[in-house]
Amino acid sequence: MAAIVVVGSLNEDLVVRVDRWPEAGETVFGDRLDYSPGGKGANQAVAARRQGAEVCMIGRVGGDDFGDAMLRNLQREEINTERLVSDQGASSGVALITVDDSGENTIIVVPGANGRLAVADIDAARTLIAEADILLMQLEIPLPVVEHAAQSAREGGATVILNAAPARSLSPQLLSLVDYLVVNETEVLLLARGASTTGNVTSPEEAARTLQKVGARNVVVTLGEEGALLLPVNGPGVSVPAFRVQAVDTTAAGDAFVGAFAVRLAAGVEPKEALRWANAAGALTVTREGAQPSLPTFAEVEEFLRAR
Ligand code: ADP
Repeated sequence: MAAIVVVGSLNEDLVVRVDRWPEAGETVFGDRLDYSPGGKGANQAVAARRQGAEVCMIGRVGGDDFGDAMLRNLQREEINTERLVSDQGASSGVALITVDDSGENTIIVVPGANGRLAVADIDAARTLIAEADILLMQLEIPLPVVEHAAQSAREGGATVILNAAPARSLSPQLLSLVDYLVVNETEVLLLARGASTTGNVTSPEEAARTLQKVGARNVVVTLGEEGALLLPVNGPGVSVPAFRVQAVDTTAAGDAFVGAFAVRLAAGVEPKEALRWANAAGALTVTREGAQPSLPTFAEVEEFLRAR
């Protein structure tokens, strides 16, 4: 079985539905408040686990009820949580999400315990990381921790996948430690504009190539209903088309995609084939409501692909 270590965030998502947003200083009534476990780290851990990998999650939750609930949630998914720290000195990460009548949303993330993930937490899991097939990370935790974990993985021979979301400026040193940088269209342009001296980058492909000039290796750009683009560090770009589906909620499509890509890569399939699988996982996710509940299993993706 593929072994994947996820170093990343856990957030409790608090979702409130409103007719319209309040003006500054105004009060409006919300319709309903839903609680659900989220955070890009936890979502991708669940995505990878449902695709059949053995998954270990490294991160921090707060010493509160949300923290306990998020820990239990991962355990229910049969994810290894022995390296998940319950930080009694912090509150859990929370995402305050509002959705209005037209489906538009606003999101405020309070990192809480995620912001206290430390280099020492990585060192405590050094052997696990070194022995993994894949180290999978995102950017909702401190950058020095991301860099340190990437370094540990490379020393141990694990493949490093970084989903650079939300986009933050990345050092050439970190870029060079990442085997596969996975970004959406918006993120790749933001990263490239930060890295480019001319600042004049317009297409995702051009943006990915700009990042490679400053140290990035293989880059995967997700393009929503257009699928994905693989830009190998040496060689021409490959476009992998999406599957046509009836989208009802695109939440967690990126997380499903990244988790599935990691698992197929760990299983030793060619990157292009892994991306076809990832596109199928993303497509299934957009046909369902919610974040983690919408993440498909291996059998569901297999069935979906058989029907194509
Ligand atoms: P993010 O949600 O991170 O912005 P994307 O919107 O690029 O990422 O979606 C990630 C992946 O999910 C896409 O590469 C694609 O495989 C799949 N996907 C997203 N939206 C659709 C859609 N409308 N139809 C089919 N597949 C989709």
